[in-house]
Amino acid sequence: MAKITLDNLAHSYYPKPKGEDDFALKELNHVWADGEAYALLGSSGCGKSTLLNIISGLLHPSQGRILFDDVDVTHATTADRNIAQVFQFPVVYDTMTVRDNLAFPLKNRGASAQYIAQRVQQIGAMIGMEAELDKRARGLTADAKQKISLGRGMVREDVNALLFDEPLTVIDPHMKWELRTQLKSLHHEFGHTMIYVTHDQTEALTFADKVVVMYDGRVVQIGTPQQLFEKPEHTFVGYFIGSPGMNVIPASVTGKTATVHGSAIELQRGYSGLDGKVEIGVRPEFVSLTEGEGLPVRIRRVEDVGRHKIVRAELFGNEINIVAGEGTAISPDMNKITFDTSHVNVYVNDWLIEGEAA
Ligand code: ADP
Ligand code: MG
Repeated sequence: MAKITLDNLAHSYYPKPKGEDDFALKELNHVWADGEAYALLGSSGCGKSTLLNIISGLLHPSQGRILFDDVDVTHATTADRNIAQVFQFPVVYDTMTVRDNLAFPLKNRGASAQYIAQRVQQIGAMIGMEAELDKRARGLTADAKQKISLGRGMVREDVNALLFDEPLTVIDPHMKWELRTQLKSLHHEFGHTMIYVTHDQTEALTFADKVVVMYDGRVVQIGTPQQLFEKPEHTFVGYFIGSPGMNVIPASVTGKTATVHGSAIELQRGYSGLDGKVEIGVRPEFVSLTEGEGLPVRIRRVEDVGRHKIVRAELFGNEINIVAGEGTAISPDMNKITFDTSHVNVYVNDWLIEGEAA
């Protein structure tokens, strides 16, 4: 297991990048703690696989260094980095049995026959394929083949890190949950450094201790699920995480007051000299509907999703979402909203501004 340091790292697929736009991965400095489980979350094309492949050594970065526990591995091969990587689509040897596929990484590293037999049995159980160990991979479904790929990724206990690139894409929904749970317990048991790439927030939030959110080639926030929820450092994190995502409302902000179309909103902290695109961000969970004082809204639709209701409304022509408790009766007289002051964030050019304690 290893601590992984990304030092001044950046990557462009162009031989002569002209500007920042030509970089699939913008400059990045970060330390991935030894033994932690990370999820790398972002929409398609934001640079997740690029980053993962640079860590594993499949791709050489155009700039910067990678260190494993302070050893520079920037130019080391994947094999020398001692890493297991599982991809989106199955990589299996069709002519081999499931057992031999699982045993392969262990045989390669010269493990004893006795250890291999015992470990393969254990992994076979984890991926739910104990009964199929002696079948050839050829005749199996894509789903089963991907389970073999996952098993192969997990079979070695002595790797520096385990990397997963959207590994559950071809797996059916029920098995997805099952395998994610297995990966999590594997992490608890062996404490490997794990990086799990996904575009699915539920997957990221349930799997990881820390979620690394990427947007347009940049890491925009690294945090616990709670930090991402409460203090999105970038408006993208606010939109992308949460269902529905954070409301982002154009405003002007001075001192401890935000103004939206002439209506004042109290803030917890003070701000001065904000320059650029100023917005406030409030999660739907921290917006309340009222018949009393507040900002005027028009309710468009109410969705009952079981545990709570999602109210889709309009605030000065823009959509705003409100989460109301299951028991809340929503009457047509509720045409105002208020915000929970301690959960109103201020953004300038999409980045969170901390403000000063008053
Ligand atoms: P993700 O895994 O988040 O979907 P990728 O890391 O695969 O994103 O891609 C990031 C960006 O780099 C995308 O714009 C993609 O088109 C580009 N890209 C990825 N692989 C290559 C490649 N081999 N050659 C050129 N451009 C690439
Ligand atoms: Mg990818």
